Amino acid sequence: MIPRYLVDFDVADLTRLEADVLIIGSGIAGLYTAIKAAENRKVLLITKKTLMESNTRYAQGGIAAVTSDEDTPAYHMEDTLIAGAGLCEPEAVSTLVHEGPVGIQELIRMGTVFDRVDGELALTREGAHSHRRILHANGDATGYEIVRALSDQVAAHPGIEVWEECMVIDLLTEHGECIGALVQKPGGERSYITANATILCSGGSGQLYRYTTNPDIATGDGIAMAYRAGAIVRDMEFIQFHPTALCHPGAPRFLISEAVRGEGAVLRNIHGERFMDKYDSRQELAPRDIVARAIIHEMERTQAAFVYLDITHEPPERVKQRFPTIYRTCLSFGLDMTTDWIPIAPAAHYMMGGVQTNLHGESSIARLFACGETSSTGVHGANRLASNSLSEAIVFASRIIERLHSLPPLVGHTLISYSDNRTEFPASSVAEQRHRLQEAMVRYAGVRRHGEGLQAALDELQGLMPIFEAVIASREEIEFANLLTCALLVTDGALLREESRGAHYREDFPETDDSVWRKHVQQRREQGITEEYVHDI
Ligand SMILES: Cc1cc2nc3c(=O)[nH]c(=O)nc-3n(C[C@H](O)[C@H](O)[C@H](O)COP(=O)(O)OP(=O)(O)OC[C@H]3O[C@@H](n4cnc5c(N)ncnc54)[C@H](O)[C@@H]3O)c2cc1C
Repeated sequence: MIPRYLVDFDVADLTRLEADVLIIGSGIAGLYTAIKAAENRKVLLITKKTLMESNTRYAQGGIAAVTSDEDTPAYHMEDTLIAGAGLCEPEAVSTLVHEGPVGIQELIRMGTVFDRVDGELALTREGAHSHRRILHANGDATGYEIVRALSDQVAAHPGIEVWEECMVIDLLTEHGECIGALVQKPGGERSYITANATILCSGGSGQLYRYTTNPDIATGDGIAMAYRAGAIVRDMEFIQFHPTALCHPGAPRFLISEAVRGEGAVLRNIHGERFMDKYDSRQELAPRDIVARAIIHEMERTQAAFVYLDITHEPPERVKQRFPTIYRTCLSFGLDMTTDWIPIAPAAHYMMGGVQTNLHGESSIARLFACGETSSTGVHGANRLASNSLSEAIVFASRIIERLHSLPPLVGHTLISYSDNRTEFPASSVAEQRHRLQEAMVRYAGVRRHGEGLQAALDELQGLMPIFEAVIASREEIEFANLLTCALLVTDGALLREESRGAHYREDFPETDDSVWRKHVQQRREQGITEEYVHDI
């Protein structure tokens, strides 16, 4: 059983701080929400590394929004719904495509400098987009530019207090409301924060898998905390694997953006043969799940650990100018993408599911909001359209701020304490347990799944559950407990969903089954796993 809180505590023993708004995380969702909220509120932003470290920082390809006369919100909506494979909430998608352009103007107002051609915003195209609508910055360093601009604003803002290197352990709830959070400071000292509104902006969970494009921070903390607090989490079985992560000895799984294929790169197997036309008429620009499965199939067929991405036919100067970060990173590993084919393989990249929210970012717990990758707004359905995640964060952040106006003040609460009488320390090294978890997830709950494998994964994960009864002290232990929670949610959801749809592919149920499965899978602590129909409009 996953416990209500990860640690025993009595707030009477802890220092307390009050904030109007508590924001957990400093990616695009956390930074943007903080700036907006601080217009007339006292904001505390807590982040477990530095202000600059997040998934957002590594986003390359760009941010999707309609800004050209040739494109329309209707086209953007259609592309998003197709990628989502019948599981998007249409109202959420409509909100995204109509409000995204205003969000872009806000980002520009906050200091983000997007690339331009002759004074106009430069637009590229990525897989499954019917039109050029992806804005980018410094070629392929979009996320870095956004984080740079927003974190400058946050750091200088008198209404925002920032706590770096602080780890939120759990959300505090009383009478069905979220009243704040329990936090661990760098030296191990714990505090509790009370807040009128708590906004989870804690990102995704790529670290569930041994091979991921996500940095170390992506351990699903927000989803696990919200689940422990009793919030509904949704669609956890849908994990997007990016088809093209660098696969080279000694190199991390560095992302080679989809935009490289958008600009003409092709995939070749180890014999140098192009293969995508065997799998999909859209070839290299087919949706990510199709490209990822095609690559894995081709790797197995040729008994290789990778395939190649080839952009050597494009003019070298254009490649260097359009993809400076990718070019430099590959070069640092001895690969010149203007002359060499780049070895790549799929890697875990993005979590479609998360904490279920309505169109105002409200979770199923009063005063608890979720924004960005940690949320499940209904925009992405069974598969995210490339570059929609950055725009989703800013669109729903603005809607959360609107909702804060109508939130009554938090009045008196009792001092909470909690004890599971934990006395034992974790039996074996957490690093070793984390490795076991990641291996099981890659092997059984990855790009291709099967009922028997998913059951084997569950058995392995259940063997790791004693961590929940142990005295947890270090950040690594907290993160591991959160990863384990998310791994159980992903595997349970994947086992229940006996069909293939979007990013979820079951070898034992290879077809999409709309008659039974055009539904979300919802999970809630103590209430188990349930299903809910997709709302049509
Ligand atoms: C390599 C890469 C390339 C990508 N490219 C694109 C792209 O081109 N376009 C696009 O739209 N999307 C892209 N994505 C996805 C996109 O970057 C993310 O979905 C998005 O940035 C998530 O933003 P976020 O603010 O929700 O979370 P993050 O940016 O991940 O921020 C999460 C924050 O929460 C903090 N945090 C987490 N847990 C805790 C805790 N317990 N206590 C305190 N703080 C905590 C973290 O330290 C971090 O600051 C890419 C992702 C990766 C990894």
